[in-house]
Amino acid sequence: MQFEVLAKCHTTRARVCRMKLAHGVTMLPTFMPVATQAAIKGLTPQQMEGLGVSLILNNTYHLNLRPGIKVLQEAGGAHKFQGWNHNLLTDSGGFQLVSLSKFTKITEEGALFASPFDGEPTMLTPEESMSIQHAIGADIIMQLDDVVSSLTVGPRVGEAMQRSVRWLDRCIAYHQNSGRQDKQNLFAIIQGGLDPDLRAQCLDEMVKRKDGVAGYAIGGLSGGEEKDVFWRIIKQCAEKLPEDRPRYSMGIGFAEDLLVCVALGVDMADCVFPTRTARFGVALTFKGPLNLRLGKHSREFIPIDDNCPCPTCSDGVSRALLHHTVTRETSAAHAVTLHNLTFQAQVMGRARDAIMNGTFPTYLREFFSNYFGDTGYPEWCVNALRSVGVDLLEHNTDAKVVEGDGAKWEYSDAS
Ligand SMILES: [Zn+2]
Repeated sequence: MQFEVLAKCHTTRARVCRMKLAHGVTMLPTFMPVATQAAIKGLTPQQMEGLGVSLILNNTYHLNLRPGIKVLQEAGGAHKFQGWNHNLLTDSGGFQLVSLSKFTKITEEGALFASPFDGEPTMLTPEESMSIQHAIGADIIMQLDDVVSSLTVGPRVGEAMQRSVRWLDRCIAYHQNSGRQDKQNLFAIIQGGLDPDLRAQCLDEMVKRKDGVAGYAIGGLSGGEEKDVFWRIIKQCAEKLPEDRPRYSMGIGFAEDLLVCVALGVDMADCVFPTRTARFGVALTFKGPLNLRLGKHSREFIPIDDNCPCPTCSDGVSRALLHHTVTRETSAAHAVTLHNLTFQAQVMGRARDAIMNGTFPTYLREFFSNYFGDTGYPEWCVNALRSVGVDLLEHNTDAKVVEGDGAKWEYSDAS
């Protein structure tokens, strides 16, 4: 990996970086769409390319089950298998294993779980996770970590953090012996739950191992914790992580979360949210999400967003047609998916431009004013951005501030 910081925001901790991997350059900050089963639901690789996406995520657990490593090896790796010539990231397989298996027991050796085929006990070790990810061949691979829900409290959180550090050592050793460091880049995952002391210990230990890792992820968040705790952990981690390594915040996809994380110093994020919500008929826009299922869209003969460059909006597909077909016709799900991924790419692309131009604080104020101006700014966003020198309420003293997550939805009053 070649990694270069091109520009830094003068106010916040946001930065623009150039990350060159074996399958090309990806400019950061970026949002990574999730192609769980080696396919973004409803889109072809050519369509993804057309949206300017250069880095996507595959799930190791799912690929390992189906089509399986033998088929991927025969195909010449996951890039060839899915016809994707750009960059690819795979997770360690641990997260799905814990979330999908009814029986998972964590031991020092690895995670013991019931095989989804025959219920037989099967072990995923850090070495096995590396070996599977080597066969898949992604440009960025993730360490196996001991994952606990962000709502877990007590000694289990510290135990999982410490085990994640030991498992990182085993992943580094296996990866270094594989001779694949030129093509595949290992990322460490910072754990420690919602406890700043445990996070600090994990950061200390994992930053010491910097020579063995190409980048860092912040894990164990986005599991239903309070947003005011979430942003403080992100800030703490992003501040301590080395300047010359990319920082990846796992499982983040709401536009407001992305922009707060970028302001706190995060470079990469992924989430199934924009593609999943598209299939449920929700289109993301700079004025907030539109629930196309609502009756009020049945006579709107205008695109989702007149200014959107996506194929759906530029072809003039109307909200009325989408209202009529969404959740019923797969073509409508594809159309909204195309739009939503374009929206995510624009949120991040405009952030990069603004950081380069020295206008990122203005971009943040404009974005939040357009997105939340009428419903109220989420208090946690106001607090988080104030902590890095941006006051969303500056020049806007009438603005409403609302408690809670503040995620803006058009779900209510369904008709
Ligand atoms: Zn569009």
